[in-house]
Formats: sequence, structure tokens, C-alpha cells
Amino acid sequence: MYDVVVVGGGAAGLSGAMALGRSKRSVLVVDAGEPRNAPAGHAHNYLGREGIPPRELLEIGRTEVAQYGVDLVDDRVVGLSGAAGDFLVTTAGGRRYGARRVLVTAGVVDELPDVPGLAERWGVDVLHCPYCHGWEVRDQAIAVLATTPMAGHQGLLFRQLSDDVVMIVHDGVELPDEELEKMSAIGVRIEHGTPQEVVTEGDALVGLRLADGSVLERQAIVVASKPHARADFLAPLGLEPQPFEMNGVAFGSVIAVESSGATAVPGVFAAGNVTDVAMTLMASAAHGMRVGAWINAELAAEDAARAVAERRAAHFERPAWEERYSGEQVWSGRANVQLVAEVAAMTPGRALEVGCGEGGDAIWLASHGWDVTAVDFADAALARTATHAEEAGVGDRVSTRRVDVRIFEPDGETWDLVTSHFVHLPDGGMVDVVRRLAAAVAPGGTLLVVGHDPEDLATGLRHGHRTFLFTAESLLPALDGDGAGEWAVEVCESRPRTQPHPQTGEEIAVADAVLRARRLA
Ligand SMILES: Cc1cc2nc3c(=O)[nH]c(=O)nc-3n(C[C@H](O)[C@H](O)[C@H](O)COP(=O)(O)OP(=O)(O)OC[C@H]3O[C@@H](n4cnc5c(N)ncnc54)[C@H](O)[C@@H]3O)c2cc1C
Repeated sequence: MYDVVVVGGGAAGLSGAMALGRSKRSVLVVDAGEPRNAPAGHAHNYLGREGIPPRELLEIGRTEVAQYGVDLVDDRVVGLSGAAGDFLVTTAGGRRYGARRVLVTAGVVDELPDVPGLAERWGVDVLHCPYCHGWEVRDQAIAVLATTPMAGHQGLLFRQLSDDVVMIVHDGVELPDEELEKMSAIGVRIEHGTPQEVVTEGDALVGLRLADGSVLERQAIVVASKPHARADFLAPLGLEPQPFEMNGVAFGSVIAVESSGATAVPGVFAAGNVTDVAMTLMASAAHGMRVGAWINAELAAEDAARAVAERRAAHFERPAWEERYSGEQVWSGRANVQLVAEVAAMTPGRALEVGCGEGGDAIWLASHGWDVTAVDFADAALARTATHAEEAGVGDRVSTRRVDVRIFEPDGETWDLVTSHFVHLPDGGMVDVVRRLAAAVAPGGTLLVVGHDPEDLATGLRHGHRTFLFTAESLLPALDGDGAGEWAVEVCESRPRTQPHPQTGEEIAVADAVLRARRLA
């Protein structure tokens, strides 16, 4: 299982692997060993490695990425299935790899014009790109085969390099009049008719046998290939190559990507020639590096989202609290100070104590004459509350009930006091909880909700808990539109107090959000 499997170890793939390997990602590059420029003796326009043989450049790249822990295997990917986070990559050699993400940098295959003898000289003296090998044929006798209406583009660029350029317009190809006029004005000769063959003598190029049988002596032949994306293995995922367009003319095919390199299939990215046939080596390398960086960012974001979910589960989901209340005693057993401060003077009645934990508040209420319904979503908490209430001699005044406040429905049952201390939920979730609790308050009864105020963030005590904390004011919308009657808000404040720091024991200033409201009778 790798973070990323890179399909193709050309300039794009190795550069993507470099960005990922240097980000401590586990990366595998599977390469079939047929880079597009392999037929050429040298690679040009690659700053810092000008004129290097194509395979030497890649060998250097392979050594470099291996230094960052990237694995390399010589094989061909033939299958890709699964989904983001859990892809299965299979190879012609029978290997199987898991991958969270896949980076496709498989390049293109060039389909050449159908002229006998042409393919054998591809990359040697049959050329397509003035930037790759134009300088090498400067001032030579050059033929440009016009197989598409775009041939004028190549005519222009090779004429820049040589005074002796002949354009041979294949049968069935119509060059626009303005292109013909342009060629003639810059001194490019035009011949018509598909050439019969490439003429050679031993290893050397002689020229082209034209349609009329004559031989046009040439030192280089320029063609427009049709580059096709090497992406058969993507078809089962529904990713089909799309026509590639340049200057309004379609030629070849590519896999469509967004600027991040993301394809239409989540988790599958692509870079280099397979996404843009016009990219040279350096452009492909740069693209691979950029897309590798995007993949790393996406994985980092995914890892962080998982960490958040795990932490939230530890804070807010029942299994974590069951475990917590199955170990040593968690709380002091004393009542919360704001409960004592707010309720001591009230006439006792029925109280709903929400998130009762180990029963400290429920026992204090029962000891002061209240009939308490103590609720929590953890059975282990309810068991502790019941035991502690028995031990405190108020077991007959405390009943327990399993309630998840996130889905609590009082179903018409009401209490004279509904209270919750330090129940917290992420992303403002407490407003909905308070709305549910408010519905359980009897006419004339009191709602008391206490939590950690966001002011505590300043002390560093609740660092990273910003989304969990609430102010008393932020809960007020829970009392709006309550069909069962009006409310008198009696306390709505951030109330300072001190407590020992949990690690250092030093007395520190904290603040409680305190909301006390009375439902008008
Ligand atoms: C004749 C010729 C000469 C060129 N000369 C130059 C030049 O001098 N300078 C320049 O800048 N550009 C040059 N180019 C363009 C250059 O080749 C490309 O820009 C460059 O190769 C694109 O890099 P890439 O990594 O996208 O693809 P590639 O270099 O083509 O690499 C793709 C790799 O993926 C592998 N692969 C494909 N399918 C699979 C699969 N299913 N499983 C595993 N591996 C797979 C291939 O075998 C290959 O190794 C030339 C092109 C040609 C045709």
C-alpha cells in the first residue's frame, strides 16, 4: 500500500515522485521504459542538462528520487480499480499495489503520417518540434509534410531556422489561401501530392520520392504526429481520452485535468504529455512537480480531517465516554460551582440533570430536596451516578435514564429545573441541544446551561477547542420561536473564576459561560 502510485517514469512522473518523496510520502513509480523522446539522441531546451541523452536524464532522475525513498519498478500498469484512498494497481508482470492516490504520467504515443520509411527515422531526421531539435537542423534542406491545415505553423517556425524549406501538401489537405500566401511571402516552396516514400542510402537520409516519382533531396523531414494518450487502463474507471485542440485544430488525445491535475475521477491525477501533448520535457517535469504537490496537499488535508474526526469521536461519541467511566474516577464528586451559585436559593422540585457523568451535580441537587432525573448517553456514567447516589443516601431521589441530548425529545414531559454543565458539541451544535432542553422546562421553571467560555482560549488551557466552546449569548437563539411560551433571561454572561491548571496545579483564571432563563408561567 502506497500513498501514491505513479504510472510512468518520464520527466513528469519522476518530478511528481520527487515532490511527493521529499514530502515523506510513500511513493512507487511503475515505468514501462518508453519515454516519448527515446528515439532522439539528445534532449534539448532542458536548462541545466542541455543536450543530454534522454535515457541518461531519466537515470539521473531515478537515482535522485530513490534518495528520497521512492520505489521504482520496471513494469507496465494494465489495470486500475477501486476508489480514492483504496485503489488497486495491477501490472503486466502480475504485480498488485494498493494506493491512496494515483498519478498518471504515461505520456503519449505518436501516430506518424503513413509514408513508407518515415517511422524508421523518427527522432533522427524525421522531426516534429523546432524547440526539441530545430537548432540541430538549422540552415539545412528541410521538408515540411503538410498533413493538417496547421502545417503553416511548422512552416513558419522551421523557416526561421533555414532558408531552404519545402512544404509538401498531402492529397486531401487544403491549406487556407492566407497560409499559402504567407509561405510564399517568406520563401517556403510548395509541392503538392503525398510523397511515395522516404529515400535513404545506407543509414543516411537522401530525401523524399514525391508523388510524380522525382526525388527531392532533404536533410530533415518535419511532420505533425498525432499524439494519443497512453491511458487504456483508465477506461474501466470511465476516464476516456478527449481530443486535444491547438489553434482550433484537433490533433491527438489527452486526459482532461483541472489546474491541480485532478481528473474527473476523484483520487486519480494526471500530469505531463498525457494531459497536454504540446508540453516539452521541462514543461512536463514542472507540471509533474506541481501536481505531485497538489496530491500531497490533498493527502495532508485528508489526514487532518481524519484526525479531527478521531478527536471528535473521542470527545463526543458514546464509546469514548463508556471507556472513560469504566476506569478510575474522572471527576471530584463535588457539585459544579455555578450550579450551587444559581440553584441554592431555588425552591426544589423536579430536576433534569443532563450529562450527569459520575453524579456530582445530581447528588447535590437531591441532597437539597430535588427529585432528580439524571441523564447521560454512557451507561457506565449512569451506573456510577446510581451507585454514588446510593452511597450518599439519596438513591431514592435520583433516577437515571440513557439520553443522547443530540436527539433528545421530551415528548411533553417537563421539569422545574433543566440543567447542563460542560456538555459541549462542535460547530455550534449546542444551540440545537439547548432548544431541546428548553422544551423540557415546565412553565415557571428554570433552564441553566453552563459551559467553558471561549475566553479560556487566551489562557492556552483549551487550545484547539475553538469550535467546541460557546458563549452564553450564542445560545440565546435556542429560546427564540419557542411555541410553549416566553422566556425571561436572568443571567447571560461570561463569569470568571479560578481553578488549578490540570498539569501544573497552578491556580489560573478561567471563565464559565452561564445562561439562566425562566419560562414565564
Ligand atoms: C522524437 C522526440 C524528441 C523530443 N525531444 C525533446 C527535446 O529535445 N526536448 C524537449 O523538451 N522535449 C522533447 N520531446 C518531447 C518530450 O518527449 C515530452 O515532452 C516528454 O517526454 C513528456 O514527458 P512525460 O513524462 O509526460 O512522458 P514520457 O516522457 O513519454 O514518459 C511516459 C512514461 O510512462 C511510461 N508508461 C506509459 N504507459 C505506461 C503504463 N501503462 N505503465 C507504466 N508506465 C507507462 C512510458 O513507458 C514512459 O516511460 C521530444 C519528443 C519526441 C517525440
